[in-house]
Amino acid sequence: MNFFKCTACGSCCSGDGSVFLYPEDVRSLAENFKMTLQEFIDKYTDFIILEYCEEGSSFSYLPYIVMKKENDACIFLKSKRCSIHDFKPFQCRNTPFVSEFFTDDEWRKYLMKHCPALMKLKEEDLEQYRPMAQVSDEKNKNYEFILRQNAYSLEKILGVTLPEPKIIPVES
Ligand code: SF4
Ligand code: SF4
Repeated sequence: MNFFKCTACGSCCSGDGSVFLYPEDVRSLAENFKMTLQEFIDKYTDFIILEYCEEGSSFSYLPYIVMKKENDACIFLKSKRCSIHDFKPFQCRNTPFVSEFFTDDEWRKYLMKHCPALMKLKEEDLEQYRPMAQVSDEKNKNYEFILRQNAYSLEKILGVTLPEPKIIPVES
């Protein structure tokens, strides 16, 4: 059996897509930078809302704080390396084995062709990483639960002021 060995090529830290930050990521990153939550959010993040169209006409919305990007790459990618490797957020620690990895076939196939570490694995090698995807799934469920408990307000959850969000439609 082969194992996933990230080559730290940095390719998943640039291009399309964003790093979602859970509230606990924001707290931990701010603490590591010795910044207040507001300072960290203002300097290093953007605020987005994903807009899901359901059954033709009804919409649902999910807010996320995401890592800011510079030149189409994560702001913390320096010389093709993660400059916050020791305390990078959950999504980066679990990449690519987040929940969609085993549920979105097209996305998995795309990653298998573009991630040098995944290229060395066979489909049967991937099963060992399913528990990581399950942990990611639980994280997402917990995030949505906390949002529901707080009227979908990240400002309320974190006690910060957020800028106007960028609304991003999500095709289903
Ligand atoms: S693309 Fe793959 S090998 Fe490259 S940094 Fe991302 S996870 Fe690691
Ligand atoms: S925090 Fe680090 S690992 Fe995550 S996207 Fe940014 S540079 Fe890449």
